[in-house]
Amino acid sequence: MRALRLYDVSDGVAAVFQDLVDLAEHCRFSDCNHESEPGCAIQAAIEEGELDPSRLKRWKKLAREELYNSETVAQSRSRTKSFSKMIKRVQADNRILKGDY
Ligand SMILES: [Zn+2]
Repeated sequence: MRALRLYDVSDGVAAVFQDLVDLAEHCRFSDCNHESEPGCAIQAAIEEGELDPSRLKRWKKLAREELYNSETVAQSRSRTKSFSKMIKRVQADNRILKGDY
């Protein structure tokens, strides 16, 4: 683990905790700590029994370690998302141009 470079760890965290990352996007506050904030989607999922609280603990521990990274998971995710959106748009445009829609 220690031998991994930070951006490798960052990619791993985003992949392994994808469900948590997705849930966190539905929290009322974008800077939600997922503790006892109102409108926290992660706490709601734990209450519903859909999420193991120990996974939240592990995710938060890793997220804390990521503060040393220059880019947060959310930032890299939104960049990746808008990039793939852009690719999709370009592909759609190409289909229209080629007329094979
Ligand atoms: Zn939250």
